[in-house]
Amino acid sequence: MSKIRVYEVAKQLEISNKELITKLRDLNISVKNHMSSLTDEQVDKILEVLTSEKVSEEPKVEIQEVKQPVNKKDKGEKNNNKKKNIEQDDIEPSVKDEEELSEILIPDKITVKELAEKLSKPVSEVIKNLMLKGIMASANQEIDFEQASQIAEDFDFIAELEEERDILEEFFREEEEDQDNLESRPPVVVVMGHVDHGKTSLLDAIRKSNVTAKEAGGITQHIGASVISINKQNITFLDTPGHEAFTAMRLRGAMATDIAILVVAADDGVMPQTVEAINHAKAAGVQIIVAINKIDKPGANPDRVKQELVEYELVSEDWGGDTICVPVSAVEETNLDQLLEMILLVSEMEELKANPNKKARGTIVEAQLDKGRGPVATVLVQQGTLKVGDSVVAGTANGRIRAMIDDKGRRVKAVGPSTPVEILGLSEVPIAGDAFYTAKNEREARHVAKKVQEREREKLIQHTPSKVTLDDLFNQIQSGTVKELNVVVKADVQGSVEAVKQSLMKLSNEEVVIKVIHGGVGAVNESDVMLASASNAIIIGFNVRPETSAKAVAESEQIDIRLYRVIYNAIEDIEAAMKGMLDPEFVEKVIGHAQIRQIYKASGIGTIGGSYVQDGKIMRNSGVRLVRNGIVVYEGQLSSLKRFKDDVKEVNSGYECGLMLEKFNDLKESDVVEAFIMEEIPR
Ligand code: GDP
Repeated sequence: MSKIRVYEVAKQLEISNKELITKLRDLNISVKNHMSSLTDEQVDKILEVLTSEKVSEEPKVEIQEVKQPVNKKDKGEKNNNKKKNIEQDDIEPSVKDEEELSEILIPDKITVKELAEKLSKPVSEVIKNLMLKGIMASANQEIDFEQASQIAEDFDFIAELEEERDILEEFFREEEEDQDNLESRPPVVVVMGHVDHGKTSLLDAIRKSNVTAKEAGGITQHIGASVISINKQNITFLDTPGHEAFTAMRLRGAMATDIAILVVAADDGVMPQTVEAINHAKAAGVQIIVAINKIDKPGANPDRVKQELVEYELVSEDWGGDTICVPVSAVEETNLDQLLEMILLVSEMEELKANPNKKARGTIVEAQLDKGRGPVATVLVQQGTLKVGDSVVAGTANGRIRAMIDDKGRRVKAVGPSTPVEILGLSEVPIAGDAFYTAKNEREARHVAKKVQEREREKLIQHTPSKVTLDDLFNQIQSGTVKELNVVVKADVQGSVEAVKQSLMKLSNEEVVIKVIHGGVGAVNESDVMLASASNAIIIGFNVRPETSAKAVAESEQIDIRLYRVIYNAIEDIEAAMKGMLDPEFVEKVIGHAQIRQIYKASGIGTIGGSYVQDGKIMRNSGVRLVRNGIVVYEGQLSSLKRFKDDVKEVNSGYECGLMLEKFNDLKESDVVEAFIMEEIPR
């Protein structure tokens, strides 16, 4: 065996020769100078001492991947008599056969320290082994697979190249399900509708009427979902999430709901959020059952509700359509059983099934950090059976389930498909809407979570926009990635929504079909953005502005929001985009907002808005628009901008000013003046 000289070791350990010689002498190894050679054992000793000083962390004895012994025929023969024993209790290498050899997965590149961990050897040994091969590498240095596999072999492992992505892919892959293994499962239902139409009341009423005497009192448990039983069959209700939460779940890939109960108040009829709910449910492809609520009220008119729903392609059964409409009263608990029976009927027709006899998968419904219990999450099991003691992963959260509590507050040991249950034992709070998976053991769960984290970090770095935007619509059409342009239309009045919808639909040609998936009155809100994101749509705002929160979400979700004042311009832009001739020479840049706090009427001059600049600045020559409750009521120029009595060029955030709009006097308190300039964008 070749000898190693002192200077080589010193270089390797990044210390001076003198220092090394002193250390060696401390260990009673006498050396003359830096050219002296060291024996194997001597190198061993010094490395042990020095690397344990250098590498602060004890190498964790954790073997990431030890597969079962490799097939003897393939690889065993040349490695006769090699044997590996790994003393670790949470893995089961069970290498008992003398002729067998352990396999280990090593990535393309690995640090010496990581390799040592995988081999469960001290770092010093690996470094020494490398040295003997003439490779000088320190603990944190990366070596390639070729080098790593040679070392692994010396330690009686067979190295296999680890395909990074495959680990995740394999883990998340959904196996084909044998029809014979499927058993019917309860439907998962969500209640949606306009605010104050009685979503919460209806859910409460259903729950209350369903409490059996025995459970009474135990029902108070709030875990974000509940199970109701009727005619010995179960129905799982998710607590009414907002429409955006519903769509956010869909966006994260977890289609948790089967049926949406659309609550419409009989005395109020179809309202903006009703339409929103319909479109979100439709876009998600879930069955809609309409609950016409508040039929006890004097002004109730269920027929009018049915009439209004026709416009949204929801035609009641008694009118010859196929939408189930049940008139109910949450307050008087009228017809609740009928509603539940209809849910069962629909789910029977849908033939909802799942295999309960496999590892559980599902969705995180709700999660929070509990002071006493740590991260707590409600999960909806969608496939398989989840048991206490199972190790699970949801995003980067992972851990072993310590306890499970059902919606009645009872501790349970195992739950099957369509069951919501609260779990304890996760490492961190997962994100609602994330899918959860069961791992083989805690180690695998941890490993997968770590990989997910790495992947997310990577994604963050190379964040490639995949969403459709008008700017690259043409390219996407050309490359065949877009065949359908989904559009969300928001406008100031219903008439405009319709007009924009009609004109847009006419633009469809043989290459791309334009589809308006949602149209509504009012500011562009978060829910619109979530819907657009989940359906890969762009948003067209016509005489409206996006809400601040919507703007932020649009940015992070990379949703193209286009705002117009004239329908013609919107149509023109989309037409141009389809031909790849969009010409965004100028884009508008909002430079600030001022809120009108007081109105002064000056005779002969006009109305002056006493304003406060909230952010950015207002410039005398910038364009301005007056926004009232999210709707643009004016767009034009300032005719005057003053601080006290003086005309000024601009007013910065935090200052007050008086302003007048050109040819417009209908200013109101709390109106917001948005100032903007047009910026040229080089193509
Ligand atoms: P949500 O915003 O859709 O969850 O609506 P809530 O459940 O909070 O109900 C809004 C209001 O309508 C509350 O004051 C309820 O008491 C009332 N309400 C709900 N359902 C009924 C009903 O069937 N009849 C009557 N008369 N009032 C109802």
